[in-house]
Amino acid sequence: MMKLVFATNNAHKLEEARRIAGSEYEILSLADIGCHEELPETGDTIEANSLQKASYLSEKYGVDCFSDDTGLFVEALNGRPGVYSARYAGPDCDPEQNIDKLLEELSGRTDRDAAFRTVVTLCRLGQEPVAFEGRVEGEIADQRRGNGGFGYDPVFICKENGISFAEMEAEEKNALSHRGRALRKLFNFLK
Ligand code: IMP
Repeated sequence: MMKLVFATNNAHKLEEARRIAGSEYEILSLADIGCHEELPETGDTIEANSLQKASYLSEKYGVDCFSDDTGLFVEALNGRPGVYSARYAGPDCDPEQNIDKLLEELSGRTDRDAAFRTVVTLCRLGQEPVAFEGRVEGEIADQRRGNGGFGYDPVFICKENGISFAEMEAEEKNALSHRGRALRKLFNFLK
């Protein structure tokens, strides 16, 4: 089995990646390799942050790895929160506060188009990094829907089926989501 470190400790993301990777790959988390530090992500694009995290990890820990960086881009907000999606409501905010802020900023607006974008970067020892992008179009709901997923999932209504990511089964979200799409490109590339 080929070992690949996913530069995350987010249990949802690990589960998504393990489903897509299949049995040929062992996907390890940061904790699995004893990495307990915060990886640097000081770029101003998701491409830059994704590359920064993966190359740091691969160089410092000597592992083959991939990272992801995701942003929610809302048209009516000129693309915000975008690369700053994690800390939208402030430096130590939680996902509920981010959703509250988003709903507040869009309150009374009918133009609610949005897209999630993920850039996954693969860094293998001795090889150039390779990036894969995934994107999904949707709309921001006016209130939360569903209990699954994480982050902004309860308010992201997917254009393709009209329900929120938090209302989908894990398989369904993976089939449609930004990260699912980027990760499938990664594993197709590796095969
Ligand atoms: P990061 O790339 O994991 O740092 O994600 C940036 C922000 O987007 C965080 O607030 C995450 O909670 C959120 N996020 C990332 N992926 C998803 C997703 O699949 N669904 C909903 N929110 C997400």
